[in-house]
Amino acid sequence: MIEYKSESEIELIRESSLLVAKTLGEVAKNIRPGIKTIELDKIAEEFIRDNGAVPGFKGYQGFSGTLCVSPNEQIVHGIPGNRELKEGDIVSIDCGVLKNGYYGDCAYTFAIGEIDESTRRLLNVTYQCLMLGIEKAVEGNTLGDISHAIQSNAENAGYSVVRELVGHGLGKNLHEPPEVPNFGKKGKGLRLRQGLVIAIEPMINLGKRFVVQEKDGWTIRTTDQKPSAHYEHTIAVRKEKADILSSFAYIQESLKNNNNNSLIIQ
Ligand code: MG
Ligand code: MG
Repeated sequence: MIEYKSESEIELIRESSLLVAKTLGEVAKNIRPGIKTIELDKIAEEFIRDNGAVPGFKGYQGFSGTLCVSPNEQIVHGIPGNRELKEGDIVSIDCGVLKNGYYGDCAYTFAIGEIDESTRRLLNVTYQCLMLGIEKAVEGNTLGDISHAIQSNAENAGYSVVRELVGHGLGKNLHEPPEVPNFGKKGKGLRLRQGLVIAIEPMINLGKRFVVQEKDGWTIRTTDQKPSAHYEHTIAVRKEKADILSSFAYIQESLKNNNNNSLIIQ
């Protein structure tokens, strides 16, 4: 059953989503070659707790981190640990918080220093996929319109779309119906209406779409070991234009101040 949200609930989800966005901004201040993924996780957890919230992922089905940190060929659900990020890596960082009884969810793929041209293009196209999907999240359209916009943009660029993992509704729970696939047909699926709050999160692979789970029981990576990118916003469906409840502004501000060139240009 889909739970449509009231305006006051949407404002609470916005507050949680903006805290996730600010947390990723803190992560962005510290991301650099040589930093361990567990160090980023500690920074995020402290910041969330200092802001009167709890990490949304920590303890979720037994997950140990505040962040999912997934470098290079890892797509999502990477466990923070002693791996050091190095120049030329990309790293997808996904974060959720629970505040006032409501979740927020947001993810961003960072470049560590200089990355090769083909990987940079993957990041740009994946970011575009997210924004094109969000453009379709207006009343009267369908879920399939969002899915199709993402899939066609990725595949036209020569990339492939992960099928096993999808976006989702959220609110009092981190994952609620409906599922929001990153592949699908125009005009198909649920008709969108105000009050629907969803996380749209394209996961796009440079190579083939196939995925495998690591023995740690969490990490999902590409079967062909080629890089994958992931961007996610929490949004509310509106009549004219989707309302983006999370934000990349804090990340981009931190990266600018750091002179880090992983700023993604729209
Ligand atoms: Mg997420
Ligand atoms: Mg999500």
